[in-house]
Amino acid sequence: MIFYKTEEEIELIRQSCLLVCKALAHVASLIRPGVSGLYLDKEAEALIRDHHASPGFKGYRGFPATLCISPNEAVVHGIPSKKEFRDGDIVSVDCGVQWNGYFGDSAYTFALGHVGEEVMSLLRVTNTSLYLGIDQAIAGNRLGDIGFAIQEYVERRHHYGVVRELVGHGVGRNLHEEPEVPNYGKRGRGVKLQERMVIAIEPMVNMGRKEVIHAEDGWTVISKDHKVAAHYEHTISVGRERADILSDHASIEVEVKRNPELQSVEAFDPAL
Ligand code: MG
Ligand code: MG
Repeated sequence: MIFYKTEEEIELIRQSCLLVCKALAHVASLIRPGVSGLYLDKEAEALIRDHHASPGFKGYRGFPATLCISPNEAVVHGIPSKKEFRDGDIVSVDCGVQWNGYFGDSAYTFALGHVGEEVMSLLRVTNTSLYLGIDQAIAGNRLGDIGFAIQEYVERRHHYGVVRELVGHGVGRNLHEEPEVPNYGKRGRGVKLQERMVIAIEPMVNMGRKEVIHAEDGWTVISKDHKVAAHYEHTISVGRERADILSDHASIEVEVKRNPELQSVEAFDPAL
């Protein structure tokens, strides 16, 4: 069942989402070639625990870490490792927290050093598609309108692959609640959106084909054709005229711009 939130609950989810983005902004200030995912994970966990909050993913179905760190061909659910990032890597970092009984969830893909224009375009298109999905998250629309907007832009306009096996989700007292929020779909289909429905919208986009496989570690999802993949995620509350974005990528982007070893990923004007 779908839990519609009260205003008070939405504020608690917002606080959790802002803490997630504080952790991701800290990651943005530290990530660079030569740094490992394990180091970033320790830093993020310490920041979250300093706020007397808990990492939302650690222990979730046995996941061992605070961050999902998914470089290059890894789409999502990568386990932080000792392996150092290299110049030209793209690295998706997903973070969740549980604070005062409510979860927050957000993700961002970083471009380290000399990332080619082809891959930068994948990142910009994926980031832009997230906002096109959010634009549809208004009361009276349906879930299919969100998925359609993302898929239309990513697949038909830009010929990348939208991952089907993994989807967005409701967020609240649980990390994953109903409804599922696919990044593909048909206009006017699916559950009707209502005010105070809180959902994570999270397009996962492959440079090549849409198919994914599981890596041997049992967690990491990678593209089947081993081409790179991107992932951006906001938690939002459905509104009457526009969605309320509870997570905050602007604070992450400030740190991206400050970090000389990162390229910034500006969303495109989707009209272009
Ligand atoms: Mg997430
Ligand atoms: Mg999520």
